[in-house]
Amino acid sequence: MQFLSFSKTILKNLFSKPVTQNYPKEPATYPEGSRGHIDISIDDCISCGLCVRNCPTRCLSVNKKAGTWTINRFDCIACGYCTIKCPKKCLYLNKGYQEPMPEKQEAVYQKSPEVMEAERKKAEEIAKKRAAAKKAKEKKEADNNTKQNA
Ligand code: SF4
Ligand code: SF4
Repeated sequence: MQFLSFSKTILKNLFSKPVTQNYPKEPATYPEGSRGHIDISIDDCISCGLCVRNCPTRCLSVNKKAGTWTINRFDCIACGYCTIKCPKKCLYLNKGYQEPMPEKQEAVYQKSPEVMEAERKKAEEIAKKRAAAKKAKEKKEADNNTKQNA
């Protein structure tokens, strides 16, 4: 009886697909709901720092001036909270695992020079507009004072 049951298992295994994957020869597939790791479309990031402030493990940092976004992957728990908080939706959970590293190091993402230049020009324009608005306000106040004193 036991032999019959054993033969059944052998036959079933002979004619069914293997349950394992031939990785890395074939691309890996990941189960439904697998979180993988955090990735960023760095050129869409506005360096607002919301992800940094909301990360429960404090594994993120942002440097607006340098145009960088940094993650310590060894501390990230892949909770995905930063992806919810990011106003630009440039953070996302990417299925698949990171390659192993020989030592703990942070992953630094750098904005492209084109985006950095565009941001610099935009900041310059905003500063100019603010200065013009301030000047106009001061002039208006000075005119009002002159009228009152006349
Ligand atoms: S997935 Fe969670 S732990 Fe990882 S960086 Fe985002 S908020 Fe932090
Ligand atoms: S929340 Fe999004 S836009 Fe803001 S710094 Fe983080 S990644 Fe960049």
